[in-house]
Amino acid sequence: MAEQHDVANEREQFQFQAEIQQVLHILIHSLYTHREIFVRELISNASDALNRVQFEMLTNQDVRDPELELAITLEADKDARIIRISDTGIGMTRDDMIKNLGTVAQSGAKAFLQKLGEANPTNSSEIIGQFGVGFYSVFMAADEVRVTSLSYQPDATAWRWTSCGEATYTLEAAERSERGTTIEIVLKEDAEEYAERWKLDQIVRQHSNFVAFPIYSAEGDE
Ligand code: ADP
Ligand code: MG
Repeated sequence: MAEQHDVANEREQFQFQAEIQQVLHILIHSLYTHREIFVRELISNASDALNRVQFEMLTNQDVRDPELELAITLEADKDARIIRISDTGIGMTRDDMIKNLGTVAQSGAKAFLQKLGEANPTNSSEIIGQFGVGFYSVFMAADEVRVTSLSYQPDATAWRWTSCGEATYTLEAAERSERGTTIEIVLKEDAEEYAERWKLDQIVRQHSNFVAFPIYSAEGDE
């Protein structure tokens, strides 16, 4: 893994695994139908993270913020063209970020790329979640994505992962005091509609109706 150290601001740069770069290239340059499904993929990841911390708490007394309500919060800031999807789930350490948001089981990415080769590319948005690459669908709509997370492990510190969906991402220490993850999405100019409150609510109703945790709307700077 190529790694560059920027001493000035302690921001480190990493290369995405080759298969992910291929997936990102396809997502960014060719597939635009049903790209709103990125919201479903991120909510599904938030829900998985909440399930995992709930399960951890059954056997582990030493989980950070045990009283925190298990929930998802959506925030839309139309003027800044930003959406934030937050959860109080299991969170990620720096190592988790490198492993989960920089590499993917090769078989999954290869199978996805192969399926794309066969299928009508217009339905690729529907199949993306099935291959362990759902997170990357956010780059169909995002200029930049920032993931800030604090793990359930009491001794963990908060980290921020940032990428524009090209070949690289960066990691740096972050400020966050509560367990969980926030995905901040700076939308592409032609995707600004997703920062409309009503549009976001409509997508959630349509695609994430069966999520087992509450989904709250926070006021953005609207
Ligand atoms: P999948 O959900 O099929 O594993 P994704 O590409 O959607 O694949 O997500 C990749 C991984 O990133 C997840 O398996 C998880 O480990 C991590 N991840 C993504 N979003 C979150 C989140 N909100 N909280 C904790 N971990 C997350
Ligand atoms: Mg997923």
